[in-house]
Amino acid sequence: PRDTTDVVVIGSGGAGFSAAVSAYDNGAKVILVEKEPVIGGNAKLAAGGMNAAWTDQQKAKGIEDSVESMVKDTMKGGRNLNDPALVDVLASHSKGSVDWLTGMGADLTDIGRMGGASVNRSHRPTGGAGVGAHVIQVLYDNAVKRDIDMRMNTRGIEILKDDKGNVKGLLVKGMYKGYYWIKADAVVLATGGFGKNNDRVAKLDPKLKGFVSTNQPGATGDGIDVAGNAGAAMQDLQYIQAHPTLSVKGGVMVTEAVRGNGAILVNREGKRFVNEITTRDKAAAAILEQTGKTAYLIFDDSVRKSLSKIDKYIGLGVAPTADSLVKLGKLENIDGKALTETVARYNSFVTAGKDADFERPNLPRALNEGNYFAIEVTPGVHHTMGGVMIDSKSEILNAKKQVIPGLYGAGEVTGGVHGANRLGGNAISDIVTFGRMAGENAAKYAEKK
Ligand code: ADP
Repeated sequence: PRDTTDVVVIGSGGAGFSAAVSAYDNGAKVILVEKEPVIGGNAKLAAGGMNAAWTDQQKAKGIEDSVESMVKDTMKGGRNLNDPALVDVLASHSKGSVDWLTGMGADLTDIGRMGGASVNRSHRPTGGAGVGAHVIQVLYDNAVKRDIDMRMNTRGIEILKDDKGNVKGLLVKGMYKGYYWIKADAVVLATGGFGKNNDRVAKLDPKLKGFVSTNQPGATGDGIDVAGNAGAAMQDLQYIQAHPTLSVKGGVMVTEAVRGNGAILVNREGKRFVNEITTRDKAAAAILEQTGKTAYLIFDDSVRKSLSKIDKYIGLGVAPTADSLVKLGKLENIDGKALTETVARYNSFVTAGKDADFERPNLPRALNEGNYFAIEVTPGVHHTMGGVMIDSKSEILNAKKQVIPGLYGAGEVTGGVHGANRLGGNAISDIVTFGRMAGENAAKYAEKK
């Protein structure tokens, strides 16, 4: 081997950094490898919050919550296909994870509501900073403080085992150093999901063929193969979350609330084509059938005023505006005459209280006030729920559900925590809790060896 350490962590997202810092704090010597030239993975992009139950931050705001309630919401959101033991770990350690990050300098004092939660439990920095970028910054600063050996441009290739089947290290490929192996007693796999790898996605869920993704370039899923080659069992790989409205211009996810508050979806020909508030999978499939595989969210000032988020999209320059639908059509190369007729027809449905074309169940407001806006959207793959099978100690299991000695996993690369569908705010919670635990258990295992 070129290097010797106690624990190697693969991946520099929230799970990898949490594991590295916690392994170090539990006495281990740590090397972290990241195949990309930059740290942070998808975790850095997370904008929502970190779900946690019955925290001091909630108490300070008078919010009543419980671990049981977080368990219930998470199971329901996952269509009850989650592994209940993992959900229990997620919820019961969530307060501890918020405290752990806070102790290292994080600000998680602002609390909002995310879809599927029965109370406000999505913790985020006050002032609107992205929770993922903030958490990664805090973890990175703490890794630097501990002088943890972090190697960018270094891909984990193969988990090496001794003749008894115990982990003995990791084969890596450095961009400059080439192939070499790191001797280690334990390896933590924290390589994230595979949303950016459309070949892999489409094989598992053909409906998602051709979808762009909200993910960072490293979210290709090679970690799944690294684990598979080491004998890891997989679960729930077919559950892949797509979001129907990713902005084409800016790559930002446009929240469902824009449609919920009254926006319609039209194609380039200026026509509606779907009940705008159908489920995510159906809306996404319908958009992909339109010219250029995109559609436009069309709304007016009354919708804009009803939702503060919309001003952010306007600020980002992804929502061109005009004072008439014909002018708006010209700006975006949509058939303006047809668009004018479509909106007039839709407004008549609002007046009648019934959508005669697509049976949209909610018709909150007519689109006839002030300026009009158009956001071009296309579906984007957002999160992969499945992955390697772990137990409630973050140990990776083989097909016989036996522990692979010395191999740990945490974060989006694992399956089971989110079942068939992840709730917003549960990803950051997942990666910090399971990453922290994987690091601690890997350090203790390495110490015993
Ligand atoms: P999580 O949210 O579970 O922490 P992220 O997507 O945030 O996952 O981070 C995973 C990181 O792992 C990404 O930065 C990705 O580039 C990196 N990664 C993926 N596969 C490998 C690999 N084989 N070797 C090294 N790093 C990897």
